[in-house]
Amino acid sequence: MKLKDITLENFRNYSALSLDFDPGVNLIVGDNAQGKTNLLEAVIYLGSGKSFRTQKTGELIKLGAEVGQLEGNIFSQERAQSLRWLLFPTARPRQLYLNGVKKKTAGEISGVLQTVLFCPEDLMVLKAGASARRKMTDHCLCQLRPNYEAALTEYTRILEQKNKILKDRYENPGLLEILPEYNTRLCQVGALLISYRARYYEGLFQHAKKYHQLFSGGKEEFSLQYRTVSTVDDPFAPVDVLTGQLQSHLESHYRAELESNQCLTGPHKDDFDVSLSGLSLKAFGSQGQVRTSAISLKLAQRQLMASQTGELPVLLLDDVLSELDPGRQDFVLNQITEGQVFITCCEPGRFTKLGKTIEILNGAVK
Ligand code: ATP
Ligand code: MG
Repeated sequence: MKLKDITLENFRNYSALSLDFDPGVNLIVGDNAQGKTNLLEAVIYLGSGKSFRTQKTGELIKLGAEVGQLEGNIFSQERAQSLRWLLFPTARPRQLYLNGVKKKTAGEISGVLQTVLFCPEDLMVLKAGASARRKMTDHCLCQLRPNYEAALTEYTRILEQKNKILKDRYENPGLLEILPEYNTRLCQVGALLISYRARYYEGLFQHAKKYHQLFSGGKEEFSLQYRTVSTVDDPFAPVDVLTGQLQSHLESHYRAELESNQCLTGPHKDDFDVSLSGLSLKAFGSQGQVRTSAISLKLAQRQLMASQTGELPVLLLDDVLSELDPGRQDFVLNQITEGQVFITCCEPGRFTKLGKTIEILNGAVK
């Protein structure tokens, strides 16, 4: 999957821009606030109709303009394709064209231009609390497995209902009678989530450790450990075995749940740990190590997506070079040889052996 070119009109700080891209690495260089991230945002929007920075279409259109436009030629699904979006700052609905034919929803272009973005916010995930990592896992797994998304939606719904029962039982004691039903279903669906997650983390780990090995010049050994409910001794066990193990954990927390009025056990508390050569990244990782591990995980996610669709998504790396030593910078710039890559950076004088450099100045190519 390759983005051959892009044309922007009144998108963010770009009045009019036409750019041809290299099929390998595209290094986008420019000072702060010149439009580097805006360009990555345009690439993502072109393929998905979504922005990672805003839900408001109006913000994407150049201030004061009446219409914004994005257009791009892509080679994917074994043919040349084109995408075009027209955006309006008013309530007028946006328009989408695939190969010149008007489409109703972004769902109709899925698979034409897939992207994987690494942005500075992703760095927080490995150091932050468990909920950020669960959110990331769920987001990635939903992209890979539609059945996971269905199970997650059901789990979340039952969990909310169970918590409501625990809270409302003072006014309505009869509610406690239906609690076992909810617990049973919660454990069944929870077991399914654990089963998906175990396989996902295993795949992610296998790819990420390979990348991390190259990235760190063989100096660090990457490992990833899935943490789930303590009674689950093997998350790869059959779903009915997992269900039983979740149930026994739940039973031992029955009193505590009644006392705290909330569901205390289940995969909604899951987490994963990354460690480098045996040391927990969360506790001991340096800034460069956190960055390197986060990028290795992104590269791994991209490979997992490729194994689903047969095509490697376009990789977008926003602002990754700072805090990396020369060897690690060289990995990012010169050793990601698979598929198309966009890398933004502020430091002049960087170049890539695998493609071209594009200099951006105030919403235009320098
Ligand atoms: P940094 O190196 O600091 O990350 P950057 O090159 O990635 O900078 P961008 O985030 O792409 O910078 O944004 C650059 C500029 O785009 C900002 O100064 C912002 O004011 C401007 N901008 C954003 N949205 C719009 C818009 N709708 N209309 C006009 N300008 C906009
Ligand atoms: Mg930026």
